[in-house]
Amino acid sequence: MQKIFQVGSKTFVLDQKKAEAAFAAKKVINGRQTMCFNLLPLKYQWAYDLYRTMKANHWEPEDIPMGKDIEQWRDEKTVSEVERWIIRMGIGYFSAAEGIVGDNIQHVVRELVTAPELKLVLGRHAHEENIHADSLLYMIASLGINPHECEAMFEDVPTIVRKNEFVTRVSRSLRRDLDLTQPENKKLLAKNIFVFGQCMEGTQFYGLFGMVLSLYRQNKFPGIGQMFRYTLRDESNHIEVFRNLFMDLIEENREIWTAEFKEELRALMAEAIQLEKEFIRDCLPVNAVGLAIDEFVTYIDYIADRRLEGVGLAPLAAGVKNPLPWLAEMMDIKKEQNFFEGRVTEYQKASSLNVAHDDDL
Ligand code: FE
Ligand code: MN
Repeated sequence: MQKIFQVGSKTFVLDQKKAEAAFAAKKVINGRQTMCFNLLPLKYQWAYDLYRTMKANHWEPEDIPMGKDIEQWRDEKTVSEVERWIIRMGIGYFSAAEGIVGDNIQHVVRELVTAPELKLVLGRHAHEENIHADSLLYMIASLGINPHECEAMFEDVPTIVRKNEFVTRVSRSLRRDLDLTQPENKKLLAKNIFVFGQCMEGTQFYGLFGMVLSLYRQNKFPGIGQMFRYTLRDESNHIEVFRNLFMDLIEENREIWTAEFKEELRALMAEAIQLEKEFIRDCLPVNAVGLAIDEFVTYIDYIADRRLEGVGLAPLAAGVKNPLPWLAEMMDIKKEQNFFEGRVTEYQKASSLNVAHDDDL
């Protein structure tokens, strides 16, 4: 079918068939190679919807007051050595982790996917990792922590080194010209998306999220806690981006979804859980007020199973109950909007106020 436009002395003929063929060629991978950012018509509606949710949640670190945190950091009496150590581990681990996630999006995933709406949401995802990295800089500067100490944490704390190595190994192998028509290479990409979305952001971020937000519940480090709440809300969207991307990649490439590959992914999650539990024991070497090591360890089993089920894989520790039910509420930021007088609330559009995926947690 053709549509003809007569404008003045000129005639333009638009061919609907050609446009439909272009739309049909939109794919997660191996789609139409084009330099045009042809978002419309949208094929992956979820990607555009998540993009809109994510930008409506925009926040900037400087909007969060750090006065109370600075006071508490300097006061030996209000905050214990263990609690201070949790904050150091949080800043140390996430300083490295946010960068690794952002880099993998920009240099691996966003490079390899072909549909423009997927590139759109991945661009926003990468930018949010920059915001998170910036928030850590702001915490370090506010508390007066030596930046070299932070670098040393991800060079010298073995449980941090091992967590980082676990994710960078599935990223490194994809940084070359990859023939994505080969099933083995499709699996490499699917594995990368699974490891980053479900194992790292979806599971290995939650040990520290739980601990920092436990402190926040006790009114310790309210500024840092608030930033972690915003980060957690962002991460829940990132997990969704990568979950949807993974599901569509599998849907379009069914040949890789074998029993063997599923077991390989479950084994990777088991490894991620193991590393996270060791890391939790480094963050919290002894129980502290309101923080029980066992609860955080069990929470990792619980959340990992939610991630596995989310992508159609069988759980590893079926039946484990959520030991930290309050963590889901922590993301529900709409309840205390008036906490802020600053710009943060202005970014909030009505549509973005109910994005907490309580069922995720
Ligand atoms: Fe992040
Ligand atoms: Mn993230």
